[in-house]
Amino acid sequence: MAVCYLGLGSNLGNRRKFIRLALERVGALEKTKVIKVSQLYETEPQGFIAASPGFINAAAKISTPLSALKLLKELKAIESELGRKKFKGLRSRPIDLDILFYGNKRISLPYLKVPHPRVTERDFVLRPLKDIAGPLIKSLSAKMKVISKISSMREFIRAQKIKGRTIGFVPTMGALHQGHLSLIRQAKKDNDRCVVSIFVNPIQFGPKEDYKKYPRDLERDSILARSAGCDCVFFPDAGEMYPENYLTYVFVEKITDCLCARLRPGHFKGVTTVVSKLFNIIGPDIAYFGQKDYQQALVIKKMAEDLNMPLKIKVMPTIRESDGLAMSSRNAYLSAQERLDAAVLHQALQKAKEMIFQGERNSRKIIREMRKMILKKKSAKIDYALVADARTLVPVNVIRGKTLIALAARIGKTRLIDNMVVC
Ligand code: AMP
Repeated sequence: MAVCYLGLGSNLGNRRKFIRLALERVGALEKTKVIKVSQLYETEPQGFIAASPGFINAAAKISTPLSALKLLKELKAIESELGRKKFKGLRSRPIDLDILFYGNKRISLPYLKVPHPRVTERDFVLRPLKDIAGPLIKSLSAKMKVISKISSMREFIRAQKIKGRTIGFVPTMGALHQGHLSLIRQAKKDNDRCVVSIFVNPIQFGPKEDYKKYPRDLERDSILARSAGCDCVFFPDAGEMYPENYLTYVFVEKITDCLCARLRPGHFKGVTTVVSKLFNIIGPDIAYFGQKDYQQALVIKKMAEDLNMPLKIKVMPTIRESDGLAMSSRNAYLSAQERLDAAVLHQALQKAKEMIFQGERNSRKIIREMRKMILKKKSAKIDYALVADARTLVPVNVIRGKTLIALAARIGKTRLIDNMVVC
């Protein structure tokens, strides 16, 4: 008998019913028993069209005498039995069944990889699996260090540097998603070691902002970070970073007067201060930031240049959901309708790109068009829609040279940003 974990997902028809029917059929396989089933979780469709509903996902622990290949064959038969009837030809499927773990076995065939590669990379597998396989999940990030003291972090770094290893660093506030993971993968590709900080930095939040409710889940983040190649997570608490009598701040002028700074006074001072401290603690060779936060990346680059910080800053492209919405930890706050509406930010940027491609150079006309599109969504309120010089962030009336088109809007109560650079 082998103990296995299965992943179940459905995004068509009566999704809960399909999960239940699939579990019944798995339980009816030769001498196979369903031992435990996770809760059902609603997750974003990934790689599917925006109009399709989210997935319902679950995980199940089973025992079976079937070999992995025989089990796979039976699961495919259940998929096609439940899928074939009503939904012929559609890309979305009423039921998707995967073998996540088959005992301790490692299998690498073109049509079957066990443990399933998505186990550690995707929330929709990880969340249900956590319900029924806590210790197994913990072991997935066991090889990675999680350090919360500055002195221990320095020791870790010193040991790496003595061996001549280079350090790639990705600062984050946690609630990791594929955007963060793309930075981690790049950091690991370019360097011998990758360090990720997870720190919800209190001094970059305004008094009415979401500091307290910002999502925090170290275990989940550690597994995701590990799967992308992280060697060490730095996870200090606020007292470690800002002890009593803390008095020192780092501040970049001018390019922090505009865009996000107008509605978030003090935000960039908080960001540059924490990033300088992290650079001093970790001493990376290269630090990685996302273009999604264009202004932040520009401010950090300027700070590193002006203060002669001995490192390189790399800015990586924005990773998006299938409908174009830029991935963000704050997307989790959106209701189902707001989530659909939120795609309008990307659509407005695409519209701007199209207008520029067709020869439009007048910023006002482009901004007017973007605003019109966004405000068609009842849930949307615009914070800013701007066309600016991509280096100085000064608004421009006529598009010439490297230009930033930047948007910030509230969708319901959630503030989202997005941008595009045109040359
Ligand atoms: P945060 O955890 O939101 O502070 O983000 C940490 C880093 O991840 C920042 O450099 C962000 O710009 C970057 N990041 C956030 N979202 C994305 C995304 N969708 N694509 C690429 N990078 C991102």
